[in-house]
Amino acid sequence: MNSRDSESNAMHSGGGPQAPAAPLRMEALVSLCARRGILHPSGEIYGGLNGFWDYGPLGVELKNELKALWWRRVVRERDDVEGMDGAIITHPRTWQASGHVEHFSDPMVDCRACQRRFRADQLADAPDCEAEASGQHDFTEPRDFNLMLETNIGASRDAASLAYLRAETCGSIFPAFKRVRDAARQRVPFGIAQIGKAFRNEINPRNFTFRSREFEQAELEFFCRPGETGKWFEHWLDQRLRFHRELGFGEQVLRTRAHGPDELAHYCGRAMDIEFRFPFGWQEIEGIHDRGSYDLSQHAEFSGKDLSEFDEQEKQRFVPEVVETSVGVDRTLLALLCNGYAEEALPDGERRTLLRLAPLVAPIKLAVLPLSKKLAEPARRLAADLRRSFQVFYDDSGNIGRRYRRQDEVGTPWCATWDFDSQQDGAVTLRDRDSMKQERVAASRVGGWLRERLEAAP
Ligand code: ATP
Repeated sequence: MNSRDSESNAMHSGGGPQAPAAPLRMEALVSLCARRGILHPSGEIYGGLNGFWDYGPLGVELKNELKALWWRRVVRERDDVEGMDGAIITHPRTWQASGHVEHFSDPMVDCRACQRRFRADQLADAPDCEAEASGQHDFTEPRDFNLMLETNIGASRDAASLAYLRAETCGSIFPAFKRVRDAARQRVPFGIAQIGKAFRNEINPRNFTFRSREFEQAELEFFCRPGETGKWFEHWLDQRLRFHRELGFGEQVLRTRAHGPDELAHYCGRAMDIEFRFPFGWQEIEGIHDRGSYDLSQHAEFSGKDLSEFDEQEKQRFVPEVVETSVGVDRTLLALLCNGYAEEALPDGERRTLLRLAPLVAPIKLAVLPLSKKLAEPARRLAADLRRSFQVFYDDSGNIGRRYRRQDEVGTPWCATWDFDSQQDGAVTLRDRDSMKQERVAASRVGGWLRERLEAAP
């Protein structure tokens, strides 16, 4: 038997899946994620902690790939954006200046019958009351609940030692504006970008990782001259939509939604959400905001430092305005999983589960599979060689069909099978995850073959 046999019937009888993909059940995805080392509840052996998640061996690779792609597109490939990595806990005045201490809250209600708490603006999605046969809740009046997570710094626990875990990563960008601008010898227009953890004491964490209490954001604050903010808003909206399309999000799952005047903060000129169609509905994965000069003006006032720029042409000072793009890393990762998950019936009667992840972000790019354990040595050598440039997985246990299925399930775009013919012709069979098509490629060319495909990815 050579490596092509196990799926050759499927290919010859029409190629690819025969039945339409079934709609995604979130439970199936949650189970796959835990089983295959993508992500699981944090503190699982103690029953988990609501709103906190741990990423496993494949999840951390997927997340790193996603963040690396964002960093490449937003920072490395441009000369008008600088990166930084600020502290999670920063000076508490930062959060007074930004308005978070006073205003960063959601409206909360309690149910007098079942004692549970809900966000007053999301009651339509609230599960039935557990204490009333009718299922009807008996709600209190809404009151504001501040989402900032607090901690204390140093030995005492009093008002003076109070500090906050950042509620959004940009909290450390604005106070560093002048330092980064001068150190990097930038002048407006330019941006500062950062990826990092953010914390919100969400009233109802839910929908898997969609609403968590600890999550990661990738944010860009792009500083520009007053009067040019509209142009830069359009530019960044276009760039960010391109990014999501690169991840494989097509028109049927991606849309934009402009905020109405009643949703805009008083300083916000314009806001646009990029939404993804999750199995639980259209939801925001990224926000793009014209924040005017609010942030730098506030920090200038609270710190007493001059954060303005000198306009050489107009010979006067101005406070830069800001276009912000803020995307949730975990939410985008969840969108990738939802978008990629499929269960398919194959022509030979078998079924497969697969994750159609864009190759650029797939946690494993190539699996090297010797057809028999007797071929382990040359296959291991090939894997070790390719590992220097790509994430490569080696697997020699179980029949080849089952090994393909295991890779399909975690989104590995290609498998290279070393079979008995390889000993003679020095070639391997490369199998494509989505089409299941196979082709013979010289083992020495596999690295180049992979690179070509990764570079050609949309
Ligand atoms: P939502 O209305 O869903 O609470 P938001 O408008 O408060 O979101 P922003 O403050 O604009 O969100 O944050 C930017 C991005 O950070 C969001 O688009 C989302 O991807 C991510 N994000 C925000 N809150 C959470 C959370 N609790 N869990 C996971 N990701 C989040």
